[in-house]
Amino acid sequence: MNIGIFISLFIGIFFLVYLQIDIEKIMQPRKIAILGSTGSIGRQALEVIEQFPDLLKVEVLTAASQSDLLIAQAKQFNPNAVVIADESKYERVKDALWGEDIKVFAGDSSLRDIVEMESIDMVLSAIVGVAGLPPTWNAIAHGKPVALANKETLVVAGDIITQKAQEKAVNIFPVDSEHSAIFQSLAGEFHNPIEKLLITASGGPFLGKDISFLQTVTPADALKHPNWNMGNKITIDSATLMNKGLEVIEAKWLFSVPLEKIEVIVHPQSAIHSLVMFADGSLKAQIGLPDMKLPIQYALTYPARLPNHFPRFSFANYPSFTFMPPDTGTFPCLRLAREASLAGGNMPCILNAANEVTVSLFLQEKIKFTQIPSIIEKTLASFPFSTPKTVEEYMNEDKECRNWMAKTL
Ligand code: NAD
Ligand code: MG
Repeated sequence: MNIGIFISLFIGIFFLVYLQIDIEKIMQPRKIAILGSTGSIGRQALEVIEQFPDLLKVEVLTAASQSDLLIAQAKQFNPNAVVIADESKYERVKDALWGEDIKVFAGDSSLRDIVEMESIDMVLSAIVGVAGLPPTWNAIAHGKPVALANKETLVVAGDIITQKAQEKAVNIFPVDSEHSAIFQSLAGEFHNPIEKLLITASGGPFLGKDISFLQTVTPADALKHPNWNMGNKITIDSATLMNKGLEVIEAKWLFSVPLEKIEVIVHPQSAIHSLVMFADGSLKAQIGLPDMKLPIQYALTYPARLPNHFPRFSFANYPSFTFMPPDTGTFPCLRLAREASLAGGNMPCILNAANEVTVSLFLQEKIKFTQIPSIIEKTLASFPFSTPKTVEEYMNEDKECRNWMAKTL
C-alpha cells in the first residue's frame, strides 16, 4: 500500500473514532419531559426524538384535554408518566394505559409538580399561553434545563424567570426559530459585545394589506400562514404581528439585550431566521427551511449537531431574499408589545392576557380582526399598573385582567 494512502486512512479512522467518542462525551442520553406533547411543537419534538432512540428518551408527556392522542403517544413512546390537565379525562387515560408501566396523573397541580421528577434531564416547555408559566417556573426552580417554546413564560414573567435561572444555574435553550437562530449565531461569541439583534418576520398572511382589507378578514383567512404550520393561537399572533412583539420581549430576556437594540425586519421567505450584529459591524445569521424540527433538535441536543434525515435547504428554491420594515400603522400589536415591555411591571402580563382573550374571541368570530389591537390597547391603558414579584402574583394579574375584560368589554 502506498504510504500516502495509508496515512490518510489512518488519519480518517482516527478522526472517525475520535469524533464518535467526542459526540458521546458531549451528548449523554437525555430523558425529556414534553409539556404540551399533543400540540404542533410537541408532535414535532416526538418526530425529532424518534430519530435518536439511543440519545433521547421520552420521560413525561402532557396534554390539556386531547386524551386519545396522548394515549397513542404514550403507547408509542412508553414514558414514565403522563399528565392530562383536564381532570374529566383522567379515567379514560388511566383505563387505556392499564397494564402499561406508565403512571397517569391529572390536573394543573400535577402538571406543575411533574417536572420535579428526579429522572427528568430536560423539560421541553411547549404549552401554549400563560398556562405554561407555572410548570416552566417549577422546572427551573428544581434545576431542570428548559428547552423553551412557550414564549409567553418570558413575556409575562421574564424578570423572575431569568433571575431564578441564574440563581439555579439553569440553562434556557430557545426553541422559537428566531431565538434559536440568534443562539446559533452567538455560538463561540458569547463574550463578544452585541450591537443589535435583527429578528426576522414573515409578515404573515396579510402582508401588504391595508386596514380596510383587515376589517373583513375571517379566522379561516388568518389561519392560512404562508410559510409555517403552527397551532391556532400563534398563527393568529403571526397575522396581527403580536407574535413578533412577543418575540422582541422574549429576546430581551433571553439575551439580556435592551429593546432599543432589537430590530424587526420583514423577510417574507422565512429563510433567514434572525441575525446578530456584533460590535465590529459583522452580521451573523442562521438560514434554514421554515421547519421547527431543526430548532427543536438543536435545543434538545445542544451543543451537539447530530445528523438527521430532515429535508435540506436549497438556494435553488429561494432565488431571492427580500426585506422591508414592518408596517406598525396597519399592525399596531408590535408597537403595543414594545410599549408594554418598556412600561414593565404587570404590563407585559396584561398585554399577554388581553391578547389571549382577544385571539380566542376572534377565533370564535365574536370580534373582528381589527378589534384585537384596539381592545388590547384599551386594556393596557385602563388596567392598573402593579409590580408582581412571584409567579402566583403574575398568575393572579392574568386572572384579574381576564375578569376585568369579561365585565368591561
Ligand atoms: P398548540 O396549540 O399546537 O399546542 C399546545 C399544547 O399545549 C397542546 O399539547 C395542548 O394540549 C397544551 N395545552 C394548551 N393549553 C393548556 C393548558 N391550559 N394546560 C395544559 N396544557 C395545555 O401550540 P403550538 O403551536 O405547539 O405552540 C406551543 C408554544 O410554542 C406556544 O407558546 C407558541 O408560541 C410556541 N411556538 C410555537 C411554534 C410552532 O411552530 N408551533 C413556533 C415557535 C414557538
Ligand atoms: Mg418564532
